[in-house]
Amino acid sequence: MSLTGVIVNKVIKLPKVTDFNSYLFVGPHPDDIEIGAGALISKLIRMGKKVSFIICLDGRFGSVNCPLLTGMELVKTRQKEALQSAEMLGVKDVRFLGFSDGGFYDPKELERTLVKTIGEIGPDIIFGPDPDMRNECHKDHIMVGEVLKRIGYLTSFTNIMDEYGAKATDLKAMGFFMTDKPNSYVKVSKADFEKQVKAVFECHLTQYPKNSELAKNVELYMRVRSFDYGLRKFGTHGECFRILDSMRMHCLPEG
Ligand SMILES: [Zn+2]
Repeated sequence: MSLTGVIVNKVIKLPKVTDFNSYLFVGPHPDDIEIGAGALISKLIRMGKKVSFIICLDGRFGSVNCPLLTGMELVKTRQKEALQSAEMLGVKDVRFLGFSDGGFYDPKELERTLVKTIGEIGPDIIFGPDPDMRNECHKDHIMVGEVLKRIGYLTSFTNIMDEYGAKATDLKAMGFFMTDKPNSYVKVSKADFEKQVKAVFECHLTQYPKNSELAKNVELYMRVRSFDYGLRKFGTHGECFRILDSMRMHCLPEG
């Protein structure tokens, strides 16, 4: 990190991931939020924080592991899975925007709908997938992350939100999960992590069929990742994020 970055970060502290009251997690597909931040969400709920989910896309093409379910049948099943999974983590406010999976939507339309929904929820911090993660090759993750990155900062500007016909937020920060540039690590309990594992592998069965090779490999990855990030906070389990407060969200590359 540059000298400016070191000094800025020393003097103007980045807020802690758990410092906020109202959290919004935005996922491209119905299982992404749990994989990217499920253990943190379990912790936030235990702390009494307000947590909302927005799921942008309907997941209609996620049938690789469940070839018998297609189209609207799969969409309905995945909605049920997402609701079950959110309930397991303790989240009651889950909103489905219903855009088609696979990038078949107008990003401008997604932007308008997201802005209005964000205005209704009025979060202190919005989390989404990091669109700049170097290995990210899924169009939906890149598109949803980019839309969030473009509009997050502006949701607290009343005049701009008026143009969308949306309510302004009092947004204090943005957070990115599935990132390769984390700047914040959070210690979570073993119970939080196990809840995350259950939320993914006991609820999203269309994506991770029981005892499948994929489910085993992804669970192993999550266990190793949780241990690795937990160690950085002198714990046994953890998650990592890229957090940008309002100062670091704009014109400040060193943050
Ligand atoms: Zn996804």
